[in-house]
Amino acid sequence: MANQAKVGAGGSLASPQHKVGAGGTASAGPAANKGTASSSDKLDKIVAEARRAAEKRDQGYREQALKIYPWVCGRCARTFTNANLRELTVHHRDHNHDNNPPNGSNWELLCLYCHDNEHQRQLEAHGGIAEAGNQSSAATHSPFANLKAMLGNKS
Ligand SMILES: [Zn+2]
Ligand SMILES: [Zn+2]
Repeated sequence: MANQAKVGAGGSLASPQHKVGAGGTASAGPAANKGTASSSDKLDKIVAEARRAAEKRDQGYREQALKIYPWVCGRCARTFTNANLRELTVHHRDHNHDNNPPNGSNWELLCLYCHDNEHQRQLEAHGGIAEAGNQSSAATHSPFANLKAMLGNKS
């Protein structure tokens, strides 16, 4: 196929030069057909590549992660095939979707359910730590104790 296309392209390029010849009409027909076919092919390719590039921007890291890692959920070890691959998602270990090192160190393949759980756990963990931190810091700093002491000193 590729070889034939190349020969055809070369023929169409050469034909204008040799069109003076008697065989011009015979070669012009197929050459013209091939020319239009290849140009629409090129357009299709350009459109397809543009579309692909746009999709790659969104899904690039997912495709890369699926190439690097086996199609297994990192939590429940559920395995995936092309049939259910859309349920396998890419989790960012540091939760930064802009952090996409090509070696995949920030990616983890998780099934939809485990991915959901992972994020809920992270939210709860962060909330718990934040609350505990606020409470403990408030307790250690205890501004009201100081106030009481100051009031106590004054009175
Ligand atoms: Zn899972
Ligand atoms: Zn995630």
